[in-house]
Amino acid sequence: MNANLYALFAARFPSDRSACCIETASGAFYSWGDIERASARMANLFAGLGLPPASRIAVQVEKSAEALILYLATLRTGHVYLPLNTAYRAAEIDYFIENAEPAVVVCAPENFGWTAQIAFKRSAAHVITLGADRSGSLLARAAAQSDAFETVASAPDDLAAILYTSGTTGRSKGAMLSHANLASNALTLQKYWHWQDGDVLLHALPLFHVHGLFVASNAALLNGSKMIFLARFDAAEVVRYLPRATVFMGVPTFYVRLLAEAGFDRAACSNVRLFVSGSAPLLLDTFNSFAARTGQVILERYGMSETVMLTSNPHDGERRGGTVGFPLPEVELRLVDEHGQPCSGTGIGGIEVRGPNVFCGYWQMPEKTAEEFTADGFFKTGDVGRFDADGYLSIVGRSKDLIITGGYNVYPKEIESVLDDLPGVVESAVIGVPHADFGEAVTAVIVCRADAGLCESAIVAALKARIANFKVPKRVFFVEDLPRNAMGKVQKNLLRERFREG
Ligand code: AMP
Repeated sequence: MNANLYALFAARFPSDRSACCIETASGAFYSWGDIERASARMANLFAGLGLPPASRIAVQVEKSAEALILYLATLRTGHVYLPLNTAYRAAEIDYFIENAEPAVVVCAPENFGWTAQIAFKRSAAHVITLGADRSGSLLARAAAQSDAFETVASAPDDLAAILYTSGTTGRSKGAMLSHANLASNALTLQKYWHWQDGDVLLHALPLFHVHGLFVASNAALLNGSKMIFLARFDAAEVVRYLPRATVFMGVPTFYVRLLAEAGFDRAACSNVRLFVSGSAPLLLDTFNSFAARTGQVILERYGMSETVMLTSNPHDGERRGGTVGFPLPEVELRLVDEHGQPCSGTGIGGIEVRGPNVFCGYWQMPEKTAEEFTADGFFKTGDVGRFDADGYLSIVGRSKDLIITGGYNVYPKEIESVLDDLPGVVESAVIGVPHADFGEAVTAVIVCRADAGLCESAIVAALKARIANFKVPKRVFFVEDLPRNAMGKVQKNLLRERFREG
């Protein structure tokens, strides 16, 4: 049997191929037949380029139906889809292209100049463009291709995608996900969340992240369900579209913003059967306010790029706020103490997981991969959790020094090294502080030379030119010294306490 993920989807597309698969906010409709034909044209284009098998196709484009079709075309050709956050700037893209060595880079038409410079320097053979408005060379070149393509036969362990996740050292690692990893998780979620006939997903998440691409889109594709694609999250627009949807997925920030939106009430949600939250902790206050306002209970789940989804609150049973529910079927999940010994009862421990969903390792980092797996094949997630007496898991912290802001991960080390390179900066510490909207706000604490003449706005401006906006500190504070422990390590807990009122 062909283990290609696209073949699995296609076998479950509705028999009526003229039914709508994607509707966009601009009023465009893409039928299931359109998706098949358009992905075939792109697949034929790639096939004609004579790429080596399992070539990486790196993609940094705005969200659009065509961007999803590009993902499907990549699957169909047996190449490896490598989505990149649209906020990334040249220095970040340079690293990904150097590391992943893609054969093809697809970028927005307006970024062609600098992207092509980087890509050709790093030996990518092809740079193709795709705009959110169907502009660019990808569609122009695909238009001349045949709209029939036989999906390549893939083995279960063949790579389908690489998702880059920043490392604690500040160096991003490419999590390699196979066709079987993605298929097993999509099938599990389809069943666990009771995807059904007539479901319509309101899709407001980005397509470059595990949440919007694999949790949301894969499940809808697998279920043959229509998606309404919003280019980005806008609370008022979501409220307008919700009456036409049955399923909505968001990061906690989406829910905070919806609650702040006039007109968001029980009636606006009455057609929706499932609200899902994940990527960062949903505050109990948000969970409760949402239930009080809408009469609906958000289902919180937990997962990560390396594993897709791991746990979920139940569809039918009690959804418990402040918890991420139970391990999904097929996912083995255990908590271990600092010596790697299993925790008993409701003890707190590092979360380790094993299952068909767990990734195949980090791209070209065998040592790093070996470090993150135990001898018996469990992946060390870096998250710390606790089971309550009824078996619901709570995430109580992160052993990795990670900040999650608006659902995006920010690794302090990366921002610190950019700050430390600025003229006049002696050293820096970057922390996350609680933030009502973003969950956590990136905050920088800086020691600078007395004569540096640096101010908050100058530092923010300097960072904005160098790194993605979501990583730029919301606030910058100046101190004389960073607090350190006896081992010389910066005591970030003290900084978090001191600057928590940001
Ligand atoms: P990413 O790979 O970008 O999806 O980030 C994965 C990380 O997000 C996990 O390792 C967790 O630290 C965090 N995360 C995801 N979902 C949740 C959740 N529901 N509650 C708390 N943390 C979460």
